[in-house]
Amino acid sequence: MDVYLDYQSAKPVDESVLKTMLPYFKQEFGNPSSLHKTGDKATTTLEDARKKVANFINAPNPEDIIFTSGATESNNLALIGGAMRYKRNGNHIITSEIEHISIRNIVKYLQREGFEIDKVPVDQFGKINLEKFKRMIRDETILISIAIASNEIGTIQPIREISKIAQENEILFHTDAIASESSLPIDVHEVPFDMVSLSSNDIYGPKGIGALYLKKGIRVNPVIIGGGQEKGIRSGSYNLHGIVGFGKAAEIMKKEMPSETERLKKYRDKLIENVLETIPNSYLNGHPSERLAHNAHFRFDYIEGESLILDLKEVNIAAATGSACSSKTLEPSHTLISCGLLHEEAHGSLLFTLGRYTKESDIDAVIVKLPKIIRRLRMMSPLTPPDLIKKYNEVKE
Ligand code: PMP
Repeated sequence: MDVYLDYQSAKPVDESVLKTMLPYFKQEFGNPSSLHKTGDKATTTLEDARKKVANFINAPNPEDIIFTSGATESNNLALIGGAMRYKRNGNHIITSEIEHISIRNIVKYLQREGFEIDKVPVDQFGKINLEKFKRMIRDETILISIAIASNEIGTIQPIREISKIAQENEILFHTDAIASESSLPIDVHEVPFDMVSLSSNDIYGPKGIGALYLKKGIRVNPVIIGGGQEKGIRSGSYNLHGIVGFGKAAEIMKKEMPSETERLKKYRDKLIENVLETIPNSYLNGHPSERLAHNAHFRFDYIEGESLILDLKEVNIAAATGSACSSKTLEPSHTLISCGLLHEEAHGSLLFTLGRYTKESDIDAVIVKLPKIIRRLRMMSPLTPPDLIKKYNEVKE
């Protein structure tokens, strides 16, 4: 049986989400922009899904949800749309050193367009330095974008404090909520977010659909211009089957999250404890306690993460080296380097992300197979010190 522990890069669609979606491919094919009855029915479906997504983050007005094609587009709309809208007020944007590649590349683009970018550093566990963050704020700062939690190392940020500081300074605050969407509740009523990027697949909905929460009164320039759907903020015919699936996934996740995260935390802790105990020279990346329930990110001395992934693949275990979106590059992870790791340390990393269909037997399989793989790789590696080889030779496999 295959063991899939790479939920951060892709999740299967929940069975009841799929069931809800199916009629919208054929029988219920209408376009909400049409004026006839088929169009009216599609509008009702669209608005019902919008309510469900709004309810997922406790947004008071469903119309504050703008449907997009996914997290990347939501991030583009928030940052480029926000920067262009408010550029008369200033040209300074703050983000963090450990944001997802989509945010990193958007701010790189904005920098080329004349905006000034500052990235808040993090400590060894990947936590934002609040004092340095406060000191970065200037009169020209118009936008702050910091994720609730890291998609790589799973560290949860002091997001209430960050958003409060943004609010006190009257600066637009955006968060990419993708990494934490399946394990930390988002409440825009409690935490003053101005914009939140959401993705359907990260809560077991279909791929290719997402949303941007835009607090009432916040304006952004559109980045996709056309027929004027979504109040002109995001044009393009509605992906209604995707939207329906997203709505259903949000409804299920809202209900399941408390019990699901409890279960995953138990599995995660079992995995972490066993790996650190049984494998010499192994370490946990990210924060020891303030971390996402589904994230276990390790590093091992004298080993390349890529070799580990390939050997795990041989025994039907799927894991990742870091961010799914850049796992095929040979560059070390910018997140791990920002946490102070050396290149060779960052290269020895391995990420397991758990999810709705993870069973305890999956964790047990890793606990049995991983130490053997690491032992074999280390026995072959010229980097392994003689005393460790000796230690391995002393104990039978
Ligand atoms: N932000 C984060 C934190 C992500 O993990 C991802 C990738 N799942 C994205 C943004 C981009 O998502 P997508 O490729 O679905 O647009």
